[in-house]
Amino acid sequence: MSLSEVFDPGVLAIPMFDDVHRTLAGEIGQWCGDREPVLRSPDIADPAAAGRAMLAEIGRAGWLSHLDPDRPGSDFRSVCLRRQALAYHADLADFAYAIQELTADAIIRHGTAQQCGRYLPGLASGAAAGAMALSEPGAGSDLSACILEAAPAGEGFVLNGTKSWIAQGDIADVCVVLARTGDGPGPLGLTTFLVDTTTAGFKADPVGAIAPRSWAELTFTNVVVGPEAVLGERGQGLVVALDVLERARASVAAAAVGFARRAFHLALGHARTRKAYGGKLSDLQLVRSSLAGMEVKLSAAALLTARASWAVDTGRDHATQSSIAKLYASEAAGEIVDAALQIFGAAGLVAGSPMELLYRQIRSLRIYEGSSEVIEMTIADAL
Ligand SMILES: Cc1cc2nc3c(=O)[nH]c(=O)nc-3n(C[C@H](O)[C@H](O)[C@H](O)COP(=O)(O)OP(=O)(O)OC[C@H]3O[C@@H](n4cnc5c(N)ncnc54)[C@H](O)[C@@H]3O)c2cc1C
Repeated sequence: MSLSEVFDPGVLAIPMFDDVHRTLAGEIGQWCGDREPVLRSPDIADPAAAGRAMLAEIGRAGWLSHLDPDRPGSDFRSVCLRRQALAYHADLADFAYAIQELTADAIIRHGTAQQCGRYLPGLASGAAAGAMALSEPGAGSDLSACILEAAPAGEGFVLNGTKSWIAQGDIADVCVVLARTGDGPGPLGLTTFLVDTTTAGFKADPVGAIAPRSWAELTFTNVVVGPEAVLGERGQGLVVALDVLERARASVAAAAVGFARRAFHLALGHARTRKAYGGKLSDLQLVRSSLAGMEVKLSAAALLTARASWAVDTGRDHATQSSIAKLYASEAAGEIVDAALQIFGAAGLVAGSPMELLYRQIRSLRIYEGSSEVIEMTIADAL
């Protein structure tokens, strides 16, 4: 597996990256190539077991070790490079990595030393799974409508309510939960909690997805937590959630680039070998136009992602840059995968084939962690 297959060397060469990033790109690209048979054959009949196994795999390899407070941390450009490589090779590997990163980021940025010490080593080794539970049946794009109640009881709280669409929800050991504590009106009345999923009253029901992954609805019935479960300040739950999401959006863009780059390479390979009209598909001008369009979009998406992750690392306005990168890269990835499938013709529709899998795997990126429409509003607000 060459570096230039997973990453665009021209993008890696720009001064927004340094040698540490170029070395990492080479290492994770190589690892993914070596482990490809394992990464590409998850047990889709049992997404929870597959998710656990994938977490263990990437944990063993050390790709999450920077989440351990006793180990050197990671900058965000590295997070994005890891996601791009994992997404290029295996949807589930990217998914497991991303959700672990998301959960740990909330704890690293807003947790106490005690919370970091308790949860991060397990997340970093892959032995424990994390989840971030924000959405509810009645609160998706508008998180301020969250109604899961955390009623004060003694020094602690009692949680009651439902969370929807939670990635790794049915395998999580610890969940970041956004709940209403009523400390203030609307968005000011929310607090985030760290909830151990072994706590009595916690229940996870798996939800089947367009691309099988561990995904669940969570029910909280009189779940009792102590004061040490509060993550960040009371009444600042939405701030915690948005802080984490604003950074994470750049990494969603990176994953989009990874998925789309693989689709592009598959289409290019097919066009160069598929015989048509006495020549090859790749001789036809309309096919060449389609491939050229993919390459332009890929370049733009990779550059916007690089700018956003660099903005995170250098303390610039990363919220807007992250949103721009996620919006463009996820929309472009949808177009690229669709165009790539078209080049395959009927062969692109065969169930379980790489193109058909990519077609299903890419769709959710335009919805989770801020749908395209919501992100457009965010960008417009910042103008
Ligand atoms: C694969 C996947 C994994 C997920 N994982 C998690 C997770 O781990 N944790 C978690 O908390 N949530 C998770 N989610 C939920 C996700 O965050 C929500 O789906 C997302 O925020 C959108 O909310 P919704 O689905 O309720 O759609 P709604 O908010 O009901 O929106 C429906 C449609 O209306 C549009 N819309 C909304 N507001 C506006 C507006 N102001 N102007 C124009 N259009 C608008 C939206 O763009 C969308 O197209 C996941 C979702 C997916 C698909």
